[in-house]
Amino acid sequence: MSVEKIDTLVVGAGQAGVAMSEHLSRAGVPHLVLERGRIAERWRSGRWDSLVANGPAWHDRFPGLEFDMNPDVFVPKEGVADYFVAYAEKFDAPVRCGVEVTSVRRVPGQPGFRVETSEGTLEVRNVVAATGPFQRPAIPPIVPTAAGVLQIHSSDYRNPGQLPEGGVLVVGAGSSGVQIADELSRAGRQVTLSVGPHDRPPRAYRGRDFVWWLGVLGKWNAQSPAPGTEHVTIAVSGARGGETIDFRRLAAQGITLVGLTQACENEVLSFRSDLAANIARGDANYLSLLDEADAYIARNGLDLPEEPEARVFAAEPSCITDPILQLDLAKAGIATIIWATGFTSDYSWLEVDAFDENGRPKHQRGVSPEAGIYFLGLPWLSGRGSSFIWGVWHDAKHVADHILIQRQYLDYRPSGQGGEKADSRQEAAE
Ligand SMILES: Cc1cc2nc3c(=O)[nH]c(=O)nc-3n(C[C@H](O)[C@H](O)[C@H](O)COP(=O)(O)OP(=O)(O)OC[C@H]3O[C@@H](n4cnc5c(N)ncnc54)[C@H](O)[C@@H]3O)c2cc1C
Repeated sequence: MSVEKIDTLVVGAGQAGVAMSEHLSRAGVPHLVLERGRIAERWRSGRWDSLVANGPAWHDRFPGLEFDMNPDVFVPKEGVADYFVAYAEKFDAPVRCGVEVTSVRRVPGQPGFRVETSEGTLEVRNVVAATGPFQRPAIPPIVPTAAGVLQIHSSDYRNPGQLPEGGVLVVGAGSSGVQIADELSRAGRQVTLSVGPHDRPPRAYRGRDFVWWLGVLGKWNAQSPAPGTEHVTIAVSGARGGETIDFRRLAAQGITLVGLTQACENEVLSFRSDLAANIARGDANYLSLLDEADAYIARNGLDLPEEPEARVFAAEPSCITDPILQLDLAKAGIATIIWATGFTSDYSWLEVDAFDENGRPKHQRGVSPEAGIYFLGLPWLSGRGSSFIWGVWHDAKHVADHILIQRQYLDYRPSGQGGEKADSRQEAAE
């Protein structure tokens, strides 16, 4: 069987794979992108129907292409996927869809890797794993599967009509959990929402979206999460034109808030008594951003409209002041549990020495210590923006630069033996 040879293989054609391909193309690095589904598959089939981008169109995009719509709208998920298809077409990205990479192994005694795919074998010098920050749905083993309720992960939720009649418990109050709970409540479902530690930035303040505030306040540049906040989710939404997530409003709308879901015994769930603390922590995070924004406006003499009403909170509902600590699933009429509890990674196909003892990728800004192996799109790969649309493009440039530099070393020949080759590549990249 013939073996296809290519310099660099990019695995995955989500936003990370497309960005990587653009930078490799610019650098003149021969490469191929293999995608087991379609371009931006997760935006098409891995998200609920009504999802819109969390950031406005002017921000959640690559530098090389604007969305063909009002820049302040929050683009529906299919529009986001279409954008990446159009982007890949723009520079004729060498993407092969419907091909799954099943294993990558170093070839003994020579540089590079042998790659097995659903459509044959390749030999490559470099592999960029762009398989996403959110790969395998994580459901904590709290409620036994036989508990008489349907349990699904947020990545399998599509719309209210998909669920059996009855109440819904949504576990997790990050961006996915709050949006799904809100949608179900508006569809007339009885919803209980389990709220853990979270940040909840204002959607907008004094006429500017929070993505703008994070930019001018330098917060997108943070290189690692603040100590102790690694497991803190962010509750933010672009739904219905973009609204600040407000747990008091969700409660007033009929959603019952409870603390962190802790255990389940005889189909009775117990929750931590941390709801008020979690809400207070989210409030503090919200107010601290308003304070920083006000200080920035004053410091720079900006003329942005005052917004004192942003600091007015409604009274705390009884579910916060007198929290439910136990819930009998059957008595409460809960027919479905949706676990909006995040994702883990799956690099079982990448059989190389690039992981720590916990199976996490080892890397510096995406460059792994295993020569020729790169990661892209991971949360905090280089900073806060790394797993988001606008941030991954810049990380991809860094990884492409590294690949190009390595190629130049390998191309080097002492003068008189073809030493001009590396220089001509450098020019092609500029
Ligand atoms: C609900 C939700 C909403 C989000 N909203 C936003 C937002 O509004 N704005 C924003 O900036 N970010 C958002 N994100 C974060 C991030 O932008 C997305 O997770 C995005 O999909 C990540 O892109 P990616 O290319 O890194 O990974 P993915 O989109 O996950 O792409 C990886 C690709 O790799 C493919 N693949 C995996 N394994 C293999 C294999 N072995 N062989 C071949 N192909 C493989 C997959 O099919 C997939 O297409 C959101 C995330 C979630 C979960």
